[in-house]
Amino acid sequence: MTRTALEMFRFDNSFVRDLPGLYQWWQAESVTNPTPVVVNAALATELGLDPEVLSAPDGIRALLADPAPAGAEPVALAYAGHQFGSYSPRLGDGRALLLGEMITPDGQRLDVHLKGSGRTPFARGGDGRAALGPMLREYLMGEAMHALGVPTTRALAVIATGEDVRRETTLPGAVLVRVASSHIRVGTFQFAAATGDLDLLSALATHTIARHYPSIASSSTPTFALFEQVLTVQADLVARWMTWGFIHGVLNTDNVTISGETIDYGPCAFMDRYDQATVFSSIDHGGRYAFGNQPGITQWNLARFAETLLALMAADAGVDPEAMVEPASEVLGTFSDVFSERWHAHMLHRVGLDDSADARTLVADLVAMAQAHQLDLTMAVRALVDVADGDTRAWEHATLGADDAEQWVHRWQSLARVDAGAMRGRTPVYVPRNHEVERVLAAATDGDITPFMQVLDALTSPFDVTAGAEALATPGPDAPGYRTFCGT
Ligand code: AMP
Ligand code: MG
Repeated sequence: MTRTALEMFRFDNSFVRDLPGLYQWWQAESVTNPTPVVVNAALATELGLDPEVLSAPDGIRALLADPAPAGAEPVALAYAGHQFGSYSPRLGDGRALLLGEMITPDGQRLDVHLKGSGRTPFARGGDGRAALGPMLREYLMGEAMHALGVPTTRALAVIATGEDVRRETTLPGAVLVRVASSHIRVGTFQFAAATGDLDLLSALATHTIARHYPSIASSSTPTFALFEQVLTVQADLVARWMTWGFIHGVLNTDNVTISGETIDYGPCAFMDRYDQATVFSSIDHGGRYAFGNQPGITQWNLARFAETLLALMAADAGVDPEAMVEPASEVLGTFSDVFSERWHAHMLHRVGLDDSADARTLVADLVAMAQAHQLDLTMAVRALVDVADGDTRAWEHATLGADDAEQWVHRWQSLARVDAGAMRGRTPVYVPRNHEVERVLAAATDGDITPFMQVLDALTSPFDVTAGAEALATPGPDAPGYRTFCGT
């Protein structure tokens, strides 16, 4: 193996250094015949990695930690979590490994993490593997979200293992390599709190603050400030999801990051027809994680986060933990206002309106209208580009000729202060629509990656029109009760 491939990362593994007790040392399983399927050259370059070195056989082996590159210290991360409301004390990386934290040329610290790299001590009944389709879905959704400006983990590569994975059928196996500003989750705090070791919990909070919220490090009540910060970034994150019509699908506390990045794209999707009640995950029978429930569920997850922090908040303030329940609840109670402010900010920007009472009424009416007529909101809002140019045909088409839509657009025209060019940069033509995502993942599973690359290309610049990507701009065939299967 060349020196460059093994030495291309600058690792500095602060989680491993600071937090023994929250991981287990582990090695990735060796892959006999790894083949890169997609390598994210743009991201690699941002990270200071040479895409060519990375994509070459030695680079791919280094990514798979087989052998581990210099400075990597692979560990399986420990975490707990509420899954669909019930608490599991021990989840953890059952099929994943943190390779290490790399320091990018601009000084950012990013986790490099593998998914599908074999069973770990947290695997429980799982096989430790991942199928190619779901790993490509995570790649695609992450890049689409990033292009829309939504904080997210991002895929650096998907590597086919050449081995079969048994799910409902036999599928090609793959490993996803992803980067994240960290993999610290609400579930990490739940796990640390459940050990009863207050020093460990305190070390986790200190580590998290140093890494994600350094401005509060000198606060006299840092744990309380941490809760406020996480509430703010999570409210902003879910507000962005709600603006673009994204449904995460499995908003368990182990899938909620402390950094405020979207993580773990499983049975997720973007809505075509606007309906708050939309559920995409086939395992979400009660609709707990329906589109419209996401803000409420995020607040619920933040309540679980607050519970893990009470003892530390109390220690900071020199009081009993019970004394912290009320102030923490008060902060938790601000969630809907913080969310509403963030949602309005994102939504008003998207439709080209400055903030005002009238503008807020207008976006509320837009969403109510979308709900009432089950409109494709992506298409409708994009049609405002044409409206700004004096052509209302696309708007009439997207709003099904509804009378209230005609009135709405007149009000919009009298309030909006943007031209078509500005609108074009604010509202996407393309979101990863389910029918297209499913089509390109099926083709990739059958060995043809070309459709995936075409769709990825359009989703990487979603505000610009890309030739041949029309299907990504229009809703799929109506399929009532349509679900993405959980396949992860
Ligand atoms: P997820 O649904 O991907 O967020 O995973 C939930 C939990 O199940 C995590 O602890 C995963 O590590 C674990 N898990 C999921 N799939 C597998 C698998 N194939 N093998 C082992 N563990 C798994
Ligand atoms: Mg997860």
